[in-house]
Amino acid sequence: MDVACPNKDCGHYGLIGQGNIAGNGTYQTRNGRVRKYVCRSCGTSFCDRRNTAFFDLKTEDEKVLLALKMIVKGMSMRSVAEVLETKLDTVRNWVQRAAEHSEEVNAVLLKEMKVSKVELDELWTFVQKKTVPRMERYEDDGTWVWVAFDPEHKVVLAHVVGVRKQSSANKLIKQVRQKVAGIPSFCSDGLRFYRNALLRSYGRVVSFPRTGLRGRLRIHALVPDENLRYA
Ligand SMILES: [Zn+2]
Repeated sequence: MDVACPNKDCGHYGLIGQGNIAGNGTYQTRNGRVRKYVCRSCGTSFCDRRNTAFFDLKTEDEKVLLALKMIVKGMSMRSVAEVLETKLDTVRNWVQRAAEHSEEVNAVLLKEMKVSKVELDELWTFVQKKTVPRMERYEDDGTWVWVAFDPEHKVVLAHVVGVRKQSSANKLIKQVRQKVAGIPSFCSDGLRFYRNALLRSYGRVVSFPRTGLRGRLRIHALVPDENLRYA
């Protein structure tokens, strides 16, 4: 099925061929019949529109995505055109369109990347401050940059600038949830805000074994238990 879920909060957002989309009948409009679909992963119903970053392109989305991946990996547009047996101008056109939709393309590429680990850090910003606040103080009104980093792909998945409080952690984890498919394991310095934020975004949080690496805590967030509901 070459249709993608239009719900940005869905783990399958913008992705085609994932088996999550089912036909859901049709309805009549002035311009003809419109097909309806439902996403089994998030329950969103929607009609027949191209909801991927590459809508309106005649070529299959997979081919365009493949081309962009190769370019991201450093291949020249000419080589990509050769490998995919397509015209150089066509590849140029894809890249141009991708640039116009860069946020969507990033979102799609991120979801394709299979992020398995996320490191969470808060970095103190030194702007107009002489001393770093004592780390044992949990809450802090100073400005911090909250960062979610994928160590495997060396990509900053999300960042939030804000006070050292629960709300900033929530924003950060929510962004990760929106951008990354599936449920990666999270590492942090153990700030309790992350645990609460993970609960909010992912549901049940289970084990916390210490990992050897920098003595960080590893936190596993699990799919929400059917019996658990969070406001
Ligand atoms: Zn969905």
